[in-house]
Amino acid sequence: MIGGLSRKGTAEEFEFWAKLNVDFIMLSVAYDFFLNDANVSRIETLKERYGLNLLIHPRPDGQTLQSPANPDAHGLIFEALNKIKDLVHKHALINKVILHLATYRIPTGAYQAFTEEEAIVNSKPFYQRLKSFGGLNFVLENVYPPGIGWEELGYETEHFGLFDLGEDYEFCLDTGHLNLSTLAVNDLLGLPFELTCLHLHGNDGISDQHVPLMRSNFKQWKQIEALLSKDKYIVLEVKSNRDKIPHVLDYLSRNEIAP
Ligand SMILES: [Zn+2]
Repeated sequence: MIGGLSRKGTAEEFEFWAKLNVDFIMLSVAYDFFLNDANVSRIETLKERYGLNLLIHPRPDGQTLQSPANPDAHGLIFEALNKIKDLVHKHALINKVILHLATYRIPTGAYQAFTEEEAIVNSKPFYQRLKSFGGLNFVLENVYPPGIGWEELGYETEHFGLFDLGEDYEFCLDTGHLNLSTLAVNDLLGLPFELTCLHLHGNDGISDQHVPLMRSNFKQWKQIEALLSKDKYIVLEVKSNRDKIPHVLDYLSRNEIAP
């Protein structure tokens, strides 16, 4: 299955991807998006109008500190997850909720700092509570390591062991984030989580550009090529250079994973 990225849940975004004949939209928005009834009814309407299923990827948000690293945000996040669960079951959405692990920000501008240690300590109760949250399948995604772009917690493969997660998660491999790290694809595939989702995008190796994935902007092409298959949820997680997207779709269809 092939999907496109929506960062606002707008008709323009749905229309853009519908014209490219993708199977679903991945909605990547802050948790409080789902606490707003107007937003929810708009995406319900757009789902039906364009005949596109939805995959939900709530973002830890730097401005609002909606991250497991912030203990004050846990209530809001769980409230949003309950709304997402209702939505998934009411509309038969793809039952996968993709999560970045805890995120902290350096103290610049509006961002408040959590140290890496604080992020880990604060997040543990969040993931313990998540373990008993039934009805949704959670998918963990790799993020790039601290020191590149915005400083965030992780992730090296060992970071996934810091939160007492257990093994009851799936895994989403984000190629753009991987390209900003020194990790090998196989290191991440060695995690005890089944790979069910791929976020395909590339960059210059310096910043998280979210441009269409090409041989020229991704270091471990062969390894990723081997992972492309119809049974995975493949998201073209593109924010710029959208005119190149048809080339990627054409490439994927020649590999017989037609959108
Ligand atoms: Zn991603």
